[in-house]
Amino acid sequence: MRQRKLKEPAPVLATAALPVVAIVGRPNAGKSTLFNRLVRSQRALVDERPGVTRDRNEAVAQWGGRCFRLVDTGGVEADERPADELLAAVRTHTLRASTEADAIILLVDGRAGASALEAGLWRRLRSGHAPVFFAANKLDTAGLADQAADFFRLGVERVYPMSAAHGRGVDELMAEVVAALPGDSATPAVAAVDEPIALAIVGRPNVGKSSLLNRLLGEERAIVSPIPGTTRDAIDSLATFNARNYLLIDTAGIRRRPKVHEGLERASVARALRALDRAEIALLVIDGSEPLAEQDARIAGYAWERGRALLFVVNKWDARPKGEREERRFQEALAWKYPTLAEVPMVFVSALSGRGVDRVVPAVEALAAAHRAQLPTPRVNQVLQAATQAQAPPSVQGKRPVFYYATQTGSAPPVLTIFTSAPRLVQPVYERFLRNQFAAAFELHGTPLQLRFRPRRETQSLAPKRSARATRGDRGARKH
Ligand code: GDP
Ligand code: GDP
Repeated sequence: MRQRKLKEPAPVLATAALPVVAIVGRPNAGKSTLFNRLVRSQRALVDERPGVTRDRNEAVAQWGGRCFRLVDTGGVEADERPADELLAAVRTHTLRASTEADAIILLVDGRAGASALEAGLWRRLRSGHAPVFFAANKLDTAGLADQAADFFRLGVERVYPMSAAHGRGVDELMAEVVAALPGDSATPAVAAVDEPIALAIVGRPNVGKSSLLNRLLGEERAIVSPIPGTTRDAIDSLATFNARNYLLIDTAGIRRRPKVHEGLERASVARALRALDRAEIALLVIDGSEPLAEQDARIAGYAWERGRALLFVVNKWDARPKGEREERRFQEALAWKYPTLAEVPMVFVSALSGRGVDRVVPAVEALAAAHRAQLPTPRVNQVLQAATQAQAPPSVQGKRPVFYYATQTGSAPPVLTIFTSAPRLVQPVYERFLRNQFAAAFELHGTPLQLRFRPRRETQSLAPKRSARATRGDRGARKH
């Protein structure tokens, strides 16, 4: 089978090679506000869809010509834990970040003043290798900046008064932070970093998402910085597989207690849907030792409707009885029950033993290539012509639509716009037929190709003339 290739990434673009800036501090200090400000201030690397920065806690950011990985260690929710446990969690996160970071921003609530926690963090961080910048946040006006003086008591030589919400003092802080980063100050620029492909790993509880992720990261020797203990909706990590950058949106490691009225399963589905909103590709992990569950089909349907590329990772294949491990039969059973999901590609794995896991990344690459495919117009029109000749569109009240010309008008997922004499006359069954013809001709498995039908009036000129020739479904149908 012809394998479509993604464009080759330029060399030395792995996000793993970038220096790391960590934002640490207690809950409510304003870490995510600062994070979002720093990430939003440059072109969105992943995606322009709204909500994209909402749950993210790791991203590529740029300031003053320097590019770095920004990590927000936040996510400890004050109201879910006893105070001492909470402080212990903040300390753990902070110390972990300090071992991985090239520069650390210790963010404190400048209005609340210094507490024992900040004093302790400052002491511990100062003994690490990375430079630490003490930022007093929420000092929104010039008058409030004086409050930063309180922190000199802790033995801090320089306090950066700032307001993450309003942007005051952020330039001054960040100029110092990026100046302290190791490496060449001229490179790399953010534009040179290969844009990560956003990949959501979703599925019901206990299907093996965490196990799969660990396998993937271990076996591909990806360099990641997972942030343990977080209770946020999703944990984002930047990872590099086969010299290509991915933003892994992982809903697996979350151990947030569901609200009483929500079941664990329902809560996890809701989380999966939110993760899908931010992803380009969905890895839907399913438990291969059981039949496909309604919830699986629901997540898959949602991903498909939202235009996400989809891969089924059928896990726990080892747990199936020996005589029932024929992959084709599993595929057929699923296609029979859920015809709309019949063309979603599948890989069969055992995250437990590692078997088959090496097929996941190539499958993702093929999927990304199909999702971002550029379909040459002449070939699109050949396929349209062949399809309408093989099977004419059904007539409605004695009239049949005539198809003139088709061209790609969108990517990720691919969109084909087809100009026709009468969009209203195109029946859903015929639309499905055409869709399948295009999907087969261009090997668009796993990406939800969309067709749009537009009216074409005779007076409207369509470029180029030669290709605008009518492709008639029924030679006799057009009135002269
Ligand atoms: P995190 O828990 O450290 O990530 O803190 P958040 O970024 O979620 O912010 C906690 C609260 O402080 C939110 O209500 C923010 O709107 C608020 N906040 C953050 N930065 C500022 C600031 O510069 N000024 C003021 N007045 N409020 C801020
Ligand atoms: P998650 O809730 O989706 O993240 O699932 P986990 O990764 O925590 O796995 C749930 C359980 O399934 C654990 O007990 C795993 O050891 C087990 N498990 C995961 N993958 C496999 C597999 O491939 N085969 C078998 N037999 N068990 C697995």
